[in-house]
Amino acid sequence: MNISDLLQKPDIESCQRLLCIQPHPDDMDISAGGTIARLAEKGIEIIYLTMTDDTAGFMEVEKIKSQRRLNHRKEEQENAGRVLGVKEYHWLDYPDAGDWSQYEARNAIIRAIRQIRPDFVMTVDPWLPYEAHQDHIKCGMAVGEALILYNHPMVKTEESVDNLFEPYQIDGVAFSFTARPNMIIGVDGYREKKFRAIAEHKSQFHGDNFEILKVYDELRSKNLAKDQNFEFGEGFKILNPNYMLHAVPEAVDY
Ligand SMILES: [Zn+2]
Repeated sequence: MNISDLLQKPDIESCQRLLCIQPHPDDMDISAGGTIARLAEKGIEIIYLTMTDDTAGFMEVEKIKSQRRLNHRKEEQENAGRVLGVKEYHWLDYPDAGDWSQYEARNAIIRAIRQIRPDFVMTVDPWLPYEAHQDHIKCGMAVGEALILYNHPMVKTEESVDNLFEPYQIDGVAFSFTARPNMIIGVDGYREKKFRAIAEHKSQFHGDNFEILKVYDELRSKNLAKDQNFEFGEGFKILNPNYMLHAVPEAVDY
């Protein structure tokens, strides 16, 4: 028996409420849009929590003045989410590419978990080699730490939330944008929806970068699905947060 056989891999398809925590609007749509559309269609409740305001990501700054950019990105995300079947949106509004604190973010995520009570969480993989964007690293790390601490009463967030909170179990965490996927989810039939959703992030695309993303994603999805019984796949590193997110070296190969 291998150590990794001790624990069953959590099954994201049998969850009921999936909380998707992303650094910027569009990260979940791009990294997992097909999966999210598929899970939403199965009746799984999808909730988005976005860390930053994404106002540094505007390609045509002169067209939209700073005050309006934040609302504009929220609108674009909600339009995209509507295509995929996202039910609810929460925003932390940290400054995009700014000096926000991972510690503060961790507590804000714990507060959100205590309020929303998801049974599965999705976020970006902070251990992606060559990831240079600190928003992605801080977001993934803050989620990981929140997942080992959300049930601990000594971690305080907001009194009214903490007082009502009853500890419960989150079954799994799925890291997208990962270099070490241990689960490939088939998204045949959902790629049209995925790219209709991504296209709603109009402020992020100019020239041919949308087409390049589409081709890259298609090649990547096909590669991931190579040994599977479907044509296109999205890859995730799925771990059990109760055992695998702290001091377990085998998690890397799990
Ligand atoms: Zn991002």
